[in-house]
Amino acid sequence: MPDCIFCKIASGEIPAEIIYEDDSVVAFPDINPVAPVHVIIIPKNHFVTTLDMSEEAPGLFGSMLRASSEVARLKGIAESGFRLILNTNADGGQDVFHVHMHLMGGEPIGKLRAK
Ligand code: 5GP
Ligand code: ZN
Repeated sequence: MPDCIFCKIASGEIPAEIIYEDDSVVAFPDINPVAPVHVIIIPKNHFVTTLDMSEEAPGLFGSMLRASSEVARLKGIAESGFRLILNTNADGGQDVFHVHMHLMGGEPIGKLRAK
């Protein structure tokens, strides 16, 4: 997809430190990390939101989950723990409209609190 920053990272047009890659997904550090380990995991193909991906390619979520386990082990945080987040549309806090999973860890991530 032209002008999509994550498509450009997936294709290598924009250089990034590739932490993990397989046929369908790629993982790289978040440019603005909010935890000592903050990795973005994306499908190589462009999907705007999780809504589109769950309709068209639900199996890709399995590949992203497998990638997250690999990344957690590579980063040494599998046992200490981590959080996975998928943001969808405005209220979900999605800023980049190419599906991506955040993997965050390396320190305790705050608990979700009831309002
Ligand atoms: P969202 O808010 O859409 O769920 O998260 C988008 C994430 O992508 C943000 O955490 C942001 O820091 C990260 N990000 C935005 N642009 C770039 C970029 O060009 N390179 C990398 N590595 N991360 C980016
Ligand atoms: Zn894209």
